[in-house]
Amino acid sequence: MKILQNYVNGKWVNASAREKISVNAPSSGEQIIFSPRSKLADINSAVDAASGAFEGEKWKSFKPHERGAILYEMANMIRESSEELANLETLDTGKPLSQARSDVEAAARYFEYYAGAADKVFGETIPVEPGILDYTIREPVGVTAHIIPWNYPLQVASRSCAAAIATGNTVVMKPAEDTPLTAVKLAEMFDRTALPDGVFNLVMGYGAEAGAALSAHPFVNHITFTGSVETGSAVMTAAARNIVPVTLELGGKSPNLVFADCDQDLAAKWVVKSILQNAGQTCSAGSRLLIESSVKDAFLKKVLERMEKVVIGPGEEDPDIGPILNGTQYERIEEFMKMVYDEGGTFLIGGAREVVAGYEGGYYFQPTVIDGLSSHSKLAREEVFGPVLSVFSFDSEEEAIRLANGTEYGLVTGIWTKDIARGHKVAEKVKAGQIFINNYGAGGGIQMPFGGYKKSGFGREKGLEALRNYTQLKNVAVRVY
Ligand code: NAD
Repeated sequence: MKILQNYVNGKWVNASAREKISVNAPSSGEQIIFSPRSKLADINSAVDAASGAFEGEKWKSFKPHERGAILYEMANMIRESSEELANLETLDTGKPLSQARSDVEAAARYFEYYAGAADKVFGETIPVEPGILDYTIREPVGVTAHIIPWNYPLQVASRSCAAAIATGNTVVMKPAEDTPLTAVKLAEMFDRTALPDGVFNLVMGYGAEAGAALSAHPFVNHITFTGSVETGSAVMTAAARNIVPVTLELGGKSPNLVFADCDQDLAAKWVVKSILQNAGQTCSAGSRLLIESSVKDAFLKKVLERMEKVVIGPGEEDPDIGPILNGTQYERIEEFMKMVYDEGGTFLIGGAREVVAGYEGGYYFQPTVIDGLSSHSKLAREEVFGPVLSVFSFDSEEEAIRLANGTEYGLVTGIWTKDIARGHKVAEKVKAGQIFINNYGAGGGIQMPFGGYKKSGFGREKGLEALRNYTQLKNVAVRVY
């Protein structure tokens, strides 16, 4: 079976140790391909290539709009290959085809968005005193490392590398070991552009080997990481030794706050969508439902009616929800389910594995709603990363806010109310990086800064705000008379 190759310094190369990792299809559990098990030596060559390209004259001589032109070309190529990319993403992650198609379009939009931004990153002049001209310049940071998760491989890879390249940096990307396929396609597309060799490099391998080596590399100047809190902390520790900044996006336990006066049908639709998208394997999943007590029964009825109709199946058949990534992720979910009764909860629906005929090797999990848990329970506070919704009720705005803020995470919050003043007030008091009032995830979020409070991480991706990650500020003071 074929072994994928790394892309380093403009060339396709084997990993030095010639060891390989099996890449499996979540839908069936069957093997698709092998990826290279890269180690320190491979990371060293990729970082050397990125470092050489950053210091070299070729990349430095690119005008900002010429960098943008390459990113526009990428957006066009992604759209031209959209069906191929969506099929690959579905094969690799198991997600329903229509969700993969949205991911592909989002990837194209990231490239196009940062293409347009490339020549609009500028400094300021600062009034100091007569005779002094003081100005700032935003310069690229240098070699940027991108450690990509398995849940949205193409989207996350595109959003961070497009912003880094728009601002004149070079890139070393390590996709998750489970999902390298679309990252390889991105490298193939970059290879067809005029991007100088070494500006974009792709190295595949295990997190604890290739990922750890990349995080600790002394010539890396910035690390963007999306994944678990535990691994984020390891990446940050490695970066701290080299005094290197990190952008960490570490997931959440995001609540939807449903007030009695809201449009309940609209809210129920989005409450269900926000927890079932990608089978709940989404950092911004709406995994807690906080309902005003007076409408709890009526609202839950609407949610359960929708959950009952959900079609579970292989991503290729475009169901409502596809499989869990692999056995390890499935077992994590199962461990949480074992806690439900001990933590005072009951299942309103779901709670078990679903066997899909013809796809017995895949790990499918039923849409699950749990009521009655204490807000202090593990299930109420920790990220399950599955289609599992925990329900709580409140009697006042203050209680809703206290519950919303009651976890160590703070990524996203949905607020559902027709009282727009209350919507703003609650938004002000909730500790989360992104708040949606009467929607959840409007517009796909390309333009909106995204990132966490508390253990959801720090730094912002998406939007123009992300460009700050990839630039450093230089102040120049000139005596002119
Ligand atoms: P992870 O955080 O270990 O992996 C994410 C990425 O980090 C992968 O590319 C992996 O290879 C890499 N990595 C792993 N160990 C590393 C290390 N020591 N140094 C550098 N890079 C390393 O996540 P996981 O084990 O695949 O999933 C576990 C849990 O993490 C999930 O159940 C979920 O709760 C969370 N998660 C969150 C997100 C998110 O979008 N925030 C994405 C994936 C996983």
